[in-house]
Amino acid sequence: METRKSKTVLLRSDIDALPIQEQNNIAYASKTADVMHACGHDAHSASLLLCAKILIELKGDFAGSVKLLFQPAEELSPGGAISVIKEKAYIALGTIPHIGQHVRPDIPVGKVGFRSGKFMASMDELFLTVKGKGGHAAMPEKIIDPVLIASHIIVAAQQLVSRMADPKTPSVLSFGKVIANGAINVIPNEVSIEGTFRTMDEDWRKIALEKLNKLVTTMAEAMGGSCELKINHGYPHLKNDSTLTEDLRIHAKDYLGEENVEELDQWMAAEDFAYYTQNNPACFYMLGVGNVEKNIASGLHTPTFNIDESALELGGGLMAWLAIKTLLV
Ligand SMILES: [Zn+2]
Ligand SMILES: [Zn+2]
Repeated sequence: METRKSKTVLLRSDIDALPIQEQNNIAYASKTADVMHACGHDAHSASLLLCAKILIELKGDFAGSVKLLFQPAEELSPGGAISVIKEKAYIALGTIPHIGQHVRPDIPVGKVGFRSGKFMASMDELFLTVKGKGGHAAMPEKIIDPVLIASHIIVAAQQLVSRMADPKTPSVLSFGKVIANGAINVIPNEVSIEGTFRTMDEDWRKIALEKLNKLVTTMAEAMGGSCELKINHGYPHLKNDSTLTEDLRIHAKDYLGEENVEELDQWMAAEDFAYYTQNNPACFYMLGVGNVEKNIASGLHTPTFNIDESALELGGGLMAWLAIKTLLV
């Protein structure tokens, strides 16, 4: 006799697209210029709709309820999950298991991947403005060179990861945008630097950003200039509940076969599903959509991202299976 373990379980799909011009020549390519489902959130939505159809057909076979959440704005900081969590209808659910699914083109179609515990990183956006005193490049004694200060800051800031971070805690500091905007013979007044800091420990995240601020400001001052660090705080790290994840892993093996359920590495990408994992037993797992033989291998957020569509049936069926299994012992 099967007994009920949880009365309610929530399944989440995100629905938003990205500002990318699609380069695929496929029937379901985006018809809107500079808007593309390059993170597969359309596949998540389609899977969850199929899941709904299955659950309705099977509703006499299980007790409890399954809440389907179609969440907007996953790609836009501060993240749509923040607004969902503040909604009355969501608060009324209380603490319940949350399950989320995301496509991954580096996992072959037919397979899924799980990871217990810390899985994805926190993400903060960094905006640095380094100020000096510009002038003629031939007369350095009359200027304070913000390009040189910025160069030192970029190198020194890596101490955060290589010297100050616990080596057992994943940390990434990357600067992808540096604008000096002087000329061959012109030193500018200021340099802007933009980057991201990612980790998997909320205490270290806070300390690291404080240390970074101290390091960049004092270094600039020591060189006669100044540096202002502005931080746009992004998503927290994503932690999968060990008990729920191990249960789902077993159920997924029953559904797909042992050989089709992979153990995943930690991943330094960020996801606003992380907010749900802070106060609920939650699991975010990966759905394989890649197919090298069909030349479907482009990464997430690229103009040629695509999925093997057979993943949709599997994704919808698996979500329904996992939801029902989570409601039953
Ligand atoms: Zn994305
Ligand atoms: Zn995504």
